[in-house]
Amino acid sequence: MNAPRFIEVALPLPLFQTFTYSVGDGPIPRPGSRVLVPVRNKRAIGISLGPADGAGIARPRAIIEAPDAEPVLSDAMMSICRWMAEYYVVPLGIVLRSVLPVLLTGERAPQPSTKTLRVASIVRELPTLLERDAMFKRAPRQRALYEVLEQMGGRGEVPHLTAQLGFGADLVRALQARGLVAIETSVVARDPFQSRARIAATPHEPSAAQADAIAQLVQAKGGDVFLLRGVTGSGKTLVYIELLREIVMRRGQSAIVLVPEIALTPQTVDRFRAVFGDEVAVLHSALSDGERYDAYLALRRGEKRIAVGARSAIFAPLANLGAIIVDEEHEGSYKNGETPRYHAREVAMVRARAEGAVVVLGSATPSLESWENAAQGKYTLLSLPERVGAAKLPTVEVVDLRHSRRPVGGKPIDPSRVPFNYVFSEPLEAALGERLQKGEQSILLLNRRGYASFLQCDACGTVRSCPNCSITLTYHRSPERLICHYCLHEELPEAKCRKCGGSTVKQRGLGTQQVERLIAERYPYARIARMDVDTTSGKWAHTEILDRVGRGEVEILLGTQMIAKGLDFPNVTLVGVIDADVGINLPDFRASERSFQLLSQVAGRAGRGPKGGEVIIQTRVPTHHAVQCAVTHDYLAFVRQESPARRDPPYPPAIRLANVIFSGLNEDATAKLALDAAEWVRALLASQAITDVTVVGPAPCAVDRIKKRWRWHLLLKSQKASALSNVGRYFVERFPVPASHSLRVAFDRDPVSLL
Ligand code: ADP
Ligand code: ZN
Repeated sequence: MNAPRFIEVALPLPLFQTFTYSVGDGPIPRPGSRVLVPVRNKRAIGISLGPADGAGIARPRAIIEAPDAEPVLSDAMMSICRWMAEYYVVPLGIVLRSVLPVLLTGERAPQPSTKTLRVASIVRELPTLLERDAMFKRAPRQRALYEVLEQMGGRGEVPHLTAQLGFGADLVRALQARGLVAIETSVVARDPFQSRARIAATPHEPSAAQADAIAQLVQAKGGDVFLLRGVTGSGKTLVYIELLREIVMRRGQSAIVLVPEIALTPQTVDRFRAVFGDEVAVLHSALSDGERYDAYLALRRGEKRIAVGARSAIFAPLANLGAIIVDEEHEGSYKNGETPRYHAREVAMVRARAEGAVVVLGSATPSLESWENAAQGKYTLLSLPERVGAAKLPTVEVVDLRHSRRPVGGKPIDPSRVPFNYVFSEPLEAALGERLQKGEQSILLLNRRGYASFLQCDACGTVRSCPNCSITLTYHRSPERLICHYCLHEELPEAKCRKCGGSTVKQRGLGTQQVERLIAERYPYARIARMDVDTTSGKWAHTEILDRVGRGEVEILLGTQMIAKGLDFPNVTLVGVIDADVGINLPDFRASERSFQLLSQVAGRAGRGPKGGEVIIQTRVPTHHAVQCAVTHDYLAFVRQESPARRDPPYPPAIRLANVIFSGLNEDATAKLALDAAEWVRALLASQAITDVTVVGPAPCAVDRIKKRWRWHLLLKSQKASALSNVGRYFVERFPVPASHSLRVAFDRDPVSLL
């Protein structure tokens, strides 16, 4: 009898170790294949890491099943996952589980989707005109349907024939009854984006700058990284498309296109579909697990060779990868908010290197990190300095809200019923009125949802805040509620102050709901669409609103930062920023950068067509560089002013950063954990004579309680990524966390926010 053979298995457990199992005389599951194994008295799906030496194991347990004929993860994907485990300090088994579609992580065999569709196919040909004339003598509509089917290659989906092409179901039945056509039911992959009308591709002659960028990209070597900085409206999408035409259509390779959020960028996705059609798999967050699995299979089998999606699309199971595009590379949404806290842009670099693909990072306002990498020569800079065609960057006017308040009848303002004039300065009102008169469209940004930011007692000043989080409750109307934007706690507003019993509780701070009411009252005939988290809970709500704007059914689009992304509406000639100061003073080292990016992005929505455009920014800090540089569309000036602030005290890109967050249900225990941890790390650095990592803190987080958990943090800083990895790993693996008060430690490498 053969001696039992062994494999090493990674399991999704919070333990930094792998496990050895015997496979008996069965075949050795190849690395990257799933295995079902016993774990204590349960069963779990793990991933084979290949043969192991089981000699030292006293009572080895055997695997239960190895369901995969082919590994679900390629060698390249396995090496990327190992890198993620190392860099983000996460057990390998947890990383591996997070990159697979949900249906592959459970014990039940995944079922491809079984949605069926009726398909009509021609079963009797009518090759001669004579036959045809005779057959359809008195039935011209039947003939038309028959000939459409012929043009479609002899097969067509019945719903497409009836709903889209307008043939009656009776015509289909008639052809069937006459033995010309058979109706069969076939299983289709479900893909909601498929049912979306496909726009026609509009080929443009590339501008000189576009042509230059394209030429450099198609000559690039695998692993090369490009930073494509193009002002808003400079035609970055065309550059991406021409690169993919070369990589996918000419060289037969595959590609990944990352966008910040599919629902917010339907136009970008539509443009890729227009050119590449069925090659494109759109990995949308609205996909069900079954649909996601269908897309996964189509990509893995090479039936589709372009994956378009948000951050997790970086794990698309494509072979022979030729290019990765990261559009709007500066967006914070590329960072995963939970374990593993990876940044899709960083994973893209690693994957491209492993598979020999070219990377393009695109943005009008690149992250300072990427800009620094370009400055150091790690990335090649490509520039599109001007808008394409005749379009010019819009003029931007700043209105200083400190001096522009208009008299409102001499009475003090009731903060619960602010008048239109109080919110809209004269220039903004005039500009908005003019657009309505001319039938042009406007976009208004206020990055604060709800009706009012909070309720405050006039007598004692008490503000109603969340019982679970240290944050004020936002006042919402329709339905009337106080809602916590962190934990979603809801309560009904009370007429009297809880603290002093005072009866004058006032609303303070302005939200999108209130602005919507103000413009509706001021312009009762205007068609207004509001787009924020509250109006977009439906799967396709974003897209529906944006499509309405595109069809000209909306005059004023009002919303939070959602409306600032890649929208391209030529009839939008005005962008108004109601209050640019929301977020500018957040206690976060990226607050200025985020504000500058948001203002630049939203300004970039204006004047994309021949009519030109203007932008009006209302602010109380008109001299802030985030505002000033957005006014002049001057990214370089922003970098010049922001960079010194990132060197003293040092923050990325001047150094590499990790945020270590301590949380727990008890305030004192959480504080003690953080203090102990800081001391532990400092002792470690001293005893090992590590001088290239510094510890800052600990301190309570800016939002020091979320969902009933108290929060403290400390920062680890270093010039060297590897030094941060070593210390981080040692800390996460060895620092003892007491098993009380539900205490937890989270290690957040390259954090996008410190709140
Ligand atoms: P960006 O992403 O850089 O803001 P887009 O890729 O959305 O810009 O392009 C802006 C608009 O310009 C789109 O409507 C696009 O179809 C159009 N466009 C792109 N390239 C050209 C070109 N070379 N000539 C004319 N129009 C172009
Ligand atoms: Zn809360």
